[in-house]
Amino acid sequence: MDLQELIMLDPVVADLAEAKEVCWVNPRKAPFAQAKDSLAFGPEDIAEASKRLAKFAPLLMEIFPETAETNGIIESPLTEIPAMKTLLKEKYGADLGGGRLFLKRDSDLAVAGSIKARGGFYDVLKHTEDLAIEGGFLDGPDDDPMKLASPEARAFFAKHKVQVASTGNLGISIGMMSAYLGYQAIVHMSADAKQWKKDYLRAHGVTVVEYAGDYGKAITEGRAISDADPDSYFVDDENSKELFMGYAVAAERLQKQLETAGVAVDEDHPLIVTIPCGVGGAPGGVAFGLKEIYGDNVHIFFAEPVQASCMVLGMATDMHNQICVQDIGLSGKTHADGLAVGRASSLVGRIMQPLLAGEVTLEDYRLYDYMRDLDASEGLFIEPSSCAAFHGPVMIAKAPELRAWIYKEGLADKMDNASYIVWATGGKLVPEEARKAFKETYLK
Ligand SMILES: *Cc1c(COP(=O)(O)O)cnc(C)c1O
Repeated sequence: MDLQELIMLDPVVADLAEAKEVCWVNPRKAPFAQAKDSLAFGPEDIAEASKRLAKFAPLLMEIFPETAETNGIIESPLTEIPAMKTLLKEKYGADLGGGRLFLKRDSDLAVAGSIKARGGFYDVLKHTEDLAIEGGFLDGPDDDPMKLASPEARAFFAKHKVQVASTGNLGISIGMMSAYLGYQAIVHMSADAKQWKKDYLRAHGVTVVEYAGDYGKAITEGRAISDADPDSYFVDDENSKELFMGYAVAAERLQKQLETAGVAVDEDHPLIVTIPCGVGGAPGGVAFGLKEIYGDNVHIFFAEPVQASCMVLGMATDMHNQICVQDIGLSGKTHADGLAVGRASSLVGRIMQPLLAGEVTLEDYRLYDYMRDLDASEGLFIEPSSCAAFHGPVMIAKAPELRAWIYKEGLADKMDNASYIVWATGGKLVPEEARKAFKETYLK
């Protein structure tokens, strides 16, 4: 299909192709009661993942002592950021009125320092359980997972490989978990991956294979190498149900945090969440989990860089992974290394079709501005990729398309009761040197 034909599928494609910033409202969104029966997964899948994570918590405490504080449950704080709310109004004219602004700080998740700790750890643990049962190290799913820390079990895992392709953070999550369990861990890294992430992995005993091309190349080659090896398991970022469910568990945890903070989510109190999107797995899993809990009372937007707008492109054209950003003349290159993906996951795009409220895309310079803004107003650091999420509330407050969306959804008189969550997807492990360099980047 040429560009003119694609534009006829959805006019937003014209702006995407010119790398313009867009605010896209998803025309295929459906009421949740109607959408939920068409989804590939249901609440029982999330419950299973949640149960498995609870079961493995003692093992995590054993292999990662830093998780002892939270009893082996890897979870991040939810922090209200009123000074940032004021800054957004004064600096950008983005007035959230009586709404409250929160930061969900997956940037501080233990061990991996990013949202990838959720899906990545879960995927490796599920695989490990299956493999250990097969190898006779566990009698079944209800057997004591602490057996997996034994020298015999570790020697068994050492004969097996876990491989993944990554722009960086997924590699850290999968690499750390599998190396600490005793596996040979191999991470296939795209050219966008930051040097410190490669160094960090190598320092923790993970093998890093580097590719000159983009993420698409790393994943195709990594998958082929792993598939050719019977003792290797490939964590498939584009298609893994386990990754998706690991991310989805975030929602029930957030629900408890909102309750503790006294934040109501109901028909009169909308919850508006913005999550940065790469291939779609992490934001999609979280979105799915939130929808299962809050239904029509939660409104979810994804945020992508203008040059790597693969999810909005796939959803707007209904072509999902059958189209990539290069097909419309974009480079796929962005400073947002965690979002530098040219082709979206089809698994996730299809699930998001009736669930997602919409998308915003943004230019790279804004990532650094929002990063400095958050630091100046709240004294918090999150990595530039994560900062894409701030563009959600800013555009909801300002952009005509999203003001129209507010009226169409019947939210106009409820916005003063809204809670906005900006999902901070990464940051903790970024070294001081790199933070300093970020602070100087795109400085006007
Ligand atoms: C991976 C990542 C995302 C997006 O996750 P996907 O599953 O690729 O959509 C967002 N932010 C950061 C910092 C990431 O590392």
